[in-house]
Amino acid sequence: MKVQEIGSRGFLFTFPDFIPYPQVPMPIQIYVINGKNNLFICDTGVKKEQLDMLKKHLTDKKLLSKPIIIFNSHFHMDHIGGNGVFDSAQIISHILCWEMMIKTTQRIKKENKARLEDKSIAYPTIIFQEKLVFPEDNVEFFYSPGHSKDSASCYDQLDKVLYVGDNLVDPIPFLTWHRIDKYLTTLQNYNNIDKRVTILGHSLVLNDSRLINKSINYIEKFRDFDVNITEFTPRHAAWYRWSFINIGLALKENGKKKEALEYFKYIKNVIRDPKIEPLNEEELREIEDFLNKELNNK
Ligand SMILES: [Zn+2]
Repeated sequence: MKVQEIGSRGFLFTFPDFIPYPQVPMPIQIYVINGKNNLFICDTGVKKEQLDMLKKHLTDKKLLSKPIIIFNSHFHMDHIGGNGVFDSAQIISHILCWEMMIKTTQRIKKENKARLEDKSIAYPTIIFQEKLVFPEDNVEFFYSPGHSKDSASCYDQLDKVLYVGDNLVDPIPFLTWHRIDKYLTTLQNYNNIDKRVTILGHSLVLNDSRLINKSINYIEKFRDFDVNITEFTPRHAAWYRWSFINIGLALKENGKKKEALEYFKYIKNVIRDPKIEPLNEEELREIEDFLNKELNNK
């Protein structure tokens, strides 16, 4: 675990070695703001142990005297794993994040009971729709859909630090929601926020808007099925192929079957391109089996 001080009251905790897909190890970043009245913790990582380590550090630094407020940027499991570590904490999220957390844990419970038991999930206790502001702390949380339907961001007005969860990912965006128009609006809105530092949910701390603009360009190309893949690394390829699959699934879930098939068809045609193909046999088989099933079931 690495700890880095940011601005006048921020602490960035970085944990290595989370592997969401084969060959794509990713760090986890958790951002803590020591506000006037409250201590804010933005996201809680994959494993309970990560937040246990963070808790120990905050205890040693005598930073645990204020009420603790946890913020979940979205419902994905790598952002809520340590929600239960602070017994007394309030947990803030967008209303859709809360709904999707409940839905997902119910589904996992049905599929594999054991897997859930070692994840002591604690659900949000305060939910908001557009914005939630702590005026005395100069901290605000706002709805910013994009990476997922429920994504939200945190803004420290005093230090001008923006925490974006997975709306920005290195090196290209990872799309899981079909409303690409709304994702673009969110990123354009980030460009209008007065900020010194932007912190991502996995890696990178940004001091300028280059990655935001690069991400906007990529999403526009992705929307038009016109991404240039010649410079792709395995990490680009992983986000790219799974973005197609996830958007297809989201379209299908929303009754847009024909549009979903376009996404599935497109990725099926390029999945064995050396620039796109998973290096891992098992992943390749999983994707091909899935796509064959979807495309034969029309
Ligand atoms: Zn994530």
